[in-house]
Amino acid sequence: MAVVYYDQDADLNVLKGKKIAVMGYGSQGHSQAQNLKDSGLDVVVGLRPESKSRAAAQAAGLEVKTVAEAAAEADIIQILLPDETQARVYREEIAPYLTGGKVLMFSHGFNIHFNQIVPPADVDVIMVAPKGPGHLVRRTYVEGQGVPALIAIYQDASGKAKEIGLAYAKGIGATRAGVIETTFKEETETDLFGEQAVLCGGTTALVKAGFETLVEAGYQPEIAYFECLHELKLIVDLMYEGGIKYMRYSISDTAEYGDVTRGPRLIDDHVKSTMKSILKEIQDGVFAREWILENQAGRPSFNAFRKKEREHLIEQVGDQLREMMSWLKK
Ligand code: NDP
Ligand code: MG
Ligand code: MG
Repeated sequence: MAVVYYDQDADLNVLKGKKIAVMGYGSQGHSQAQNLKDSGLDVVVGLRPESKSRAAAQAAGLEVKTVAEAAAEADIIQILLPDETQARVYREEIAPYLTGGKVLMFSHGFNIHFNQIVPPADVDVIMVAPKGPGHLVRRTYVEGQGVPALIAIYQDASGKAKEIGLAYAKGIGATRAGVIETTFKEETETDLFGEQAVLCGGTTALVKAGFETLVEAGYQPEIAYFECLHELKLIVDLMYEGGIKYMRYSISDTAEYGDVTRGPRLIDDHVKSTMKSILKEIQDGVFAREWILENQAGRPSFNAFRKKEREHLIEQVGDQLREMMSWLKK
């Protein structure tokens, strides 16, 4: 079974007197920086001079510097930039100031695991990866709760990497919910697989296929939208609260019978074998190579996919229906 750490396993004093630079103020950056500050720690935010996020960080009472300045003065450097820009920014603005004894941190293992960033041997390299989007990392912290996280040690030059990582996890509120020990390899591979096969890729493809099947059969797109997209949240919320069994307890017996007899016909051995090849492309670096090259080329395929996806009928129908749901944030 997994090793899980909670509040009593972590000591914030390990970080007292240390300066933490949070590079980036996006989804994770804004939440981690604010949570650390509210936990009484000394935080500086590193941003590029033209950053749109500067005003927001300053309004939250955070000190903002350039990435290079923040890297120079910090003891602990947490890189919360987009994964595809981390290697360049690291090389140009962080590495020159990453002197022995400092701590380099990440919230995702991509750049370390796929050797895009190769840190010097005399620094600690730690990952604390919240298992939830940034706005939840902030909201749950403010409400006295937390988002669970993963912790991994890649290099332990100081011999204290675990204590430092756990203290950081406590600072962002993650030890309230539970922090599971892992490796950079396991986190990177499972994170990529989860988002590709289930959470993002698998789910959006399933929703669209269901929507298209109903619309092509002559049903109203609005009904197809509610049935295949809108209601998904209600079902997933039940699974989140009490597992698949609780969701099945809540739905009708008719729905449950359809679930257990039809679900496996859809997600059959063929789908599982495709999942295995997708996992293999992650493990052997084929996906990483493709994504790195796509970025180097200026994202031609990604931009084309994005445009095409945004034009799908389900988005147009959804935009109209959500207009009437004033409680949904834009
Ligand atoms: P975002 O895209 O939300 O934010 C990126 C931040 O980096 C922005 O503040 C942006 O500011 C800044 N930035 C972009 N380019 C540069 C640059 N060249 N120099 C300096 N600053 C730059 O990233 P996320 O928070 O989504 O991701 C950060 C890390 O967290 C990634 O490793 C990701 O895998 C990981 N992660 C993300 C999760 C999430 O919920 N999104 C969940 C768990 C892990 P501006 O453009 O204003 O300059
Ligand atoms: Mg991810
Ligand atoms: Mg129904």
